[in-house]
Amino acid sequence: MTEFNEARRELVRMLINEGVLRSSKVIRAMLKVPREEFVLPRYRDYAYSDMPLPIGYGQTISAPHMVALMTEELDPGEGDKVLEIGTGSGYQAAVLAEIVSDRGHVWSIERIPGLAEFARENLKRTSYIGRVTVIVGDGTLGYSSYAPYDRIIVTAAAPDIPRALIDQLRVGGKLVIPVGDRYLQRLVTVVKEPGGKVRRKVGIPCVFVPLIGRYGYDEC
Ligand code: SAM
Repeated sequence: MTEFNEARRELVRMLINEGVLRSSKVIRAMLKVPREEFVLPRYRDYAYSDMPLPIGYGQTISAPHMVALMTEELDPGEGDKVLEIGTGSGYQAAVLAEIVSDRGHVWSIERIPGLAEFARENLKRTSYIGRVTVIVGDGTLGYSSYAPYDRIIVTAAAPDIPRALIDQLRVGGKLVIPVGDRYLQRLVTVVKEPGGKVRRKVGIPCVFVPLIGRYGYDEC
């Protein structure tokens, strides 16, 4: 445990020095959430290496610098309602849950039932399950039940921004999503303006597993 705490602090120090981690709320969240509880047991020793790791079903838990960067860009706040597409291990959802606190909530959609179960177990063990609802489904359709959301984050590569996600974002809300082909994308940030118009900012190149679904890529 102590060994993981020290490794976590060291990784956060590195991400601060690199300029990836900037805000106290994201720094605090990444210092708090135990990434070792979200990786497969055989990869625990690599939990604080700054790289994606396999979580089964051909999917990955994103690298810590990508989680840090996307969370900084998303800029969630205490009390926010957040929608995540691509639960995977549940780690990103836990970081968001730490920030929104008991006053907010995270809804996270995962298309692979076995991964949704893996994430729920991880979130239970780390006591974030009360703030995170994991849903099995196609996240390219969003999740209209609790819309509009203050923030929406997509952690898989989309060919374009699914319309439903823009519709389910509140005015003034923010969406962060990797957009591109199956092999290389750019991180796109969308802000919804009054009247429903959207402002897009195209950011850094990145590599994510594909978003598979009705408004994503086909399964191959
Ligand atoms: N956020 C995750 C974490 O913290 O571990 C990492 C996400 S992983 C890079 C991408 C995830 O998106 C995979 O688990 C994949 O099954 C899921 N996914 C792909 N297409 C999806 C869709 N249409 N709806 C929901 N989840 C999807």
